[in-house]
Amino acid sequence: MERRPAPPIERRPPAPANVEISFLPEEKGLAAMIETMKHSPRAYALFDVAKLILNKPERHVLKLALKPGADGTRAPLFLALADETVFQSKDEALRHVFRRHADKLCRAEKKPCDPPKGNFASVNRCSITGEIFGPSNYHDYQATIVRFHQRRLRHMSFDEFRSRIQTVKDEAVVKQWVESKSFVTEFHCLLCPEPKAFASREEVEKHLAETHLDALVTSNTELQISGVASRQQTWVALSEALRIAFVSEWRFPLRSAQTLSDRLRPDGFHFFKHRKGVTYVSHIKPKRVESLDGLSDQIQKIITFLRAHPDSVRKQLADNLQIADQDRFMADLHWLIMEGSVVEFADGRLWALENKPPAEAKPESKPETELAPPDPAPAPDTPVKEAAPAPPVSEGTEDASVAPPAS
Ligand SMILES: [Zn+2]
Repeated sequence: MERRPAPPIERRPPAPANVEISFLPEEKGLAAMIETMKHSPRAYALFDVAKLILNKPERHVLKLALKPGADGTRAPLFLALADETVFQSKDEALRHVFRRHADKLCRAEKKPCDPPKGNFASVNRCSITGEIFGPSNYHDYQATIVRFHQRRLRHMSFDEFRSRIQTVKDEAVVKQWVESKSFVTEFHCLLCPEPKAFASREEVEKHLAETHLDALVTSNTELQISGVASRQQTWVALSEALRIAFVSEWRFPLRSAQTLSDRLRPDGFHFFKHRKGVTYVSHIKPKRVESLDGLSDQIQKIITFLRAHPDSVRKQLADNLQIADQDRFMADLHWLIMEGSVVEFADGRLWALENKPPAEAKPESKPETELAPPDPAPAPDTPVKEAAPAPPVSEGTEDASVAPPAS
């Protein structure tokens, strides 16, 4: 009988956490981007600008909130302030902080003390970790092994752990233990202005949680984290929710585009549509030339050529018009662009407006119909659509010509 190969093991992604996620531009980067766009005569596809913000973790921030429960209220989320890691409970957040950032919170200091007195023929040692606990009749032996079990081997039962303790009759090992008992470790809280010493790590952590909680963990029903932090979450289900939200926003950055247009409009930007309903944004308001009469010959030629040959770039225009005076040509074209009579897109295409004005785009009013994804046949140097959606860990691709990077 023929044996069927075993079915491949399905590796399912974890279920995403029940979290609502929104993307916002990072303020400083956005301000720099707006400033550069203001001084650029070019028109940018709004979705391309939105993707530019999404493409770099440094350029956006995220708002997170747990979805409301049956009673309509939202449970709080907890944020470890040191690295913006999000948790569902304060204790988880604190454990994370103590594990990852202990060096910033407390300092361990070894102090010499009197070593144990007496002759010790043997010591007990953990056969799993190699930790030496000392002779079983030593005064703090019991407390030592209980603490050790709690701290290091909590996953096994205490009896199981105890059965793995062995007695070692080796002078060198005994000496090693005696030496380890010749000093004590004190823990100092680094957040207290006055030095404060604690006898154990557990004690200093208890103190930190009680006294300095506000400096370590914050909680709210809505939290904001940086784009960089969103890529480094330890809560697996949240990471999955973030990944899904990012891919979806990247594929169709409607909400990012809306946020962006709300920010750009007061800064004097104009929105208009061109080709297949794609919304563009420019600091120059596009307007048609009412009449060619009275315009110079060359300007008339430029407009006529561009109307007949949409999507030409500067070079095609210059070649076809057989320009004699390059400077004059550049000056004329510049004038037309600054007037809004010719639009120069971020990828270099030129568009001389026809005899009717372009549709005014209002992305926030009718988003579903008015904001389509960018042109499906983009110029070759507009790669934002070719690239696979960048999952949160990836930088994705971007087009430096679309807009300046926000540094
Ligand atoms: Zn303190």
